[in-house]
Formats: sequence, C-alpha cells, structure tokens
Amino acid sequence: MSGPIALYLDDIVQMRKPHACGGDTWRVVRLGADIGIRCRTCNRKVLLPRSEFERRMKRFVQRGQPESDPEISPSELP
Ligand SMILES: [Zn+2]
Repeated sequence: MSGPIALYLDDIVQMRKPHACGGDTWRVVRLGADIGIRCRTCNRKVLLPRSEFERRMKRFVQRGQPESDPEISPSELP
C-alpha cells in the first residue's frame, strides 16, 4: 500500500525500536502534521513528523475510532 497511512486517535501501534523504557507499544494521541504518541509503558509523550512516524511504525496492535474531526480533546493536551 502506498500513500499515507490512515491514522486514528487511540490507535495502538508497535514501533520497530523499543522505547528507552523497554516498551514498544504506543497510543496515538494527536493527529496532524506531527503525530503525537504516548508510550503505554512509561506514559511519555512524543511528537514525530508523520513521515518519520510511518518509517518507525511496525504495525497496528489495535485500531482507534475513525474520526473526520482531528480536534484534540482537552485531556490530551500537555
Ligand atoms: Zn516508554
């Protein structure tokens, strides 16, 4: 499949390289030019440019809700 990967909030993704804490699954918490993901093991939040996110992502563990509205809920703001 070519082109951008469809990403949804609350997608759970596995990255190719484990995080420094040892966890390798992340929750998508922000969509946009940069993708915000939160480590499910240590709860740390990281922003990655979409292209880099797609390079580092290994697979979807679980899909979130398809939503056309990219707005961030207040609880997800830093
Ligand atoms: Zn971590």
